[in-house]
Amino acid sequence: MVTTPLKTTKSEEIFTAAQKLMPGGVSSPVRAFKSVGGQPIVFDRVLGSHIWDVDGNKYIDYVGTWGPAICGHAHPEVISALKNALENGTSFGAPCVWENVLAEMVIEAVPSIEMVRFVNSGTEACMSVLRLMRAFTGRDKIIKFEGCYHGHADMFLVKAGSGVATLGLPDSPGVPKNVTENTLTAPYNDLEAVKKLFAENPGEISGIILEPVVGNSGFITPDFGFLEGLRLLTQENNALLVFDEVMTGFRIAYGGAQERFGVTPDLTTLGKVIGGGLPVGAYGGRRDIMALVAPSGPMYQAGTLSGNPLAMTAGIKTLELLQKPGTYEYLDTITKRLSDGLLQIAQETGHEACGGQISGMFGLFFTSGPVHNYEDAKKSDLTKFSRFHRGMLEQGIYLAPSQFEAGFTSLAHTDDDIDKTLAAAKDVMSNL
Ligand code: PMP
Repeated sequence: MVTTPLKTTKSEEIFTAAQKLMPGGVSSPVRAFKSVGGQPIVFDRVLGSHIWDVDGNKYIDYVGTWGPAICGHAHPEVISALKNALENGTSFGAPCVWENVLAEMVIEAVPSIEMVRFVNSGTEACMSVLRLMRAFTGRDKIIKFEGCYHGHADMFLVKAGSGVATLGLPDSPGVPKNVTENTLTAPYNDLEAVKKLFAENPGEISGIILEPVVGNSGFITPDFGFLEGLRLLTQENNALLVFDEVMTGFRIAYGGAQERFGVTPDLTTLGKVIGGGLPVGAYGGRRDIMALVAPSGPMYQAGTLSGNPLAMTAGIKTLELLQKPGTYEYLDTITKRLSDGLLQIAQETGHEACGGQISGMFGLFFTSGPVHNYEDAKKSDLTKFSRFHRGMLEQGIYLAPSQFEAGFTSLAHTDDDIDKTLAAAKDVMSNL
């Protein structure tokens, strides 16, 4: 089929102006569409499973503002709760009861979390948890995995995923060498490499931080026994295990990957879903470790807008909606239809592909796979992905503009949305 070129005149005008005002024309790198042709779409409205651009084009959205929109965009109950909260002001910079409510919900849901501290982003959550790991153990070194992304703080910009992988960037300039020399890396799913790092650095490693299911090198699941193996290795070495559940928290199960896989870390970071689309992050875990955080303990960490009443309200309402029976089953069912459908179409149209999903998180690589780690993910045909992405956009389907990002569905996605998406994929893949 011949697709009509998208009319994107206004998007182009706005992005051209933006490039003079902001580096790369954006507030966050992957949004610039660099790896898929460089002409991003500028949006002005979201609702349910849809997103509209400034030229009036409507898309089925599988980015979901990078994960938070799990109940669907602008859910009427979230919006109404926010309107009510707004009447009382936008920020207190002081304790509010909504922090208690959200903290209780988080503690109740996430097995590892006995106490929690709210911050404003996933980056903040991860940089704070790292300080806490070091403060608690008195050790400076950490292990992270190649292709995992834990925000843009200096010590995590080593073999990082997400935008760093999308843009093929080397470790970032501006990060002092002595800041990252304590960041050790191993390939994801490689327990032997982790064992070796512990053996080579006896008594020096404070802990391991990882995405328990990777979303920042594309979608990669932990091999059977990997998470359990890390739990054991950290215990044997008196080190901490930290799950970065900024993406997976309240997404792949209400209690996150730790509930889904039955492995409980010492500490956990959260973000995205718990803010219901407003800027929120959190870190939490064992009470004895969290007791070190100021003012209860000496480890300093603070925030002007942390625990913001609007952000807490959006988070509470989002978690309430997720507590309804059947939500995760629904996410799993529609996302499986999507993922299986895409793989089948790829096979029928002669493209090497692999992928999968857990609940409302999915991925598709243009390589025969299997993909166990970032090196495997990099074998994907990026040119093909770029053409696929553009083709889908032309057909009204908005996918993450990078092979190295996971996709997200929401409770607002319908069977009809999935049918339309698969029909579009069939057309696009037949003409790739
Ligand atoms: N950790 C993970 C696993 C993430 O996916 C992200 C963001 N995609 C972050 C941390 C950083 O979060 P933020 O963009 O809110 O700073």
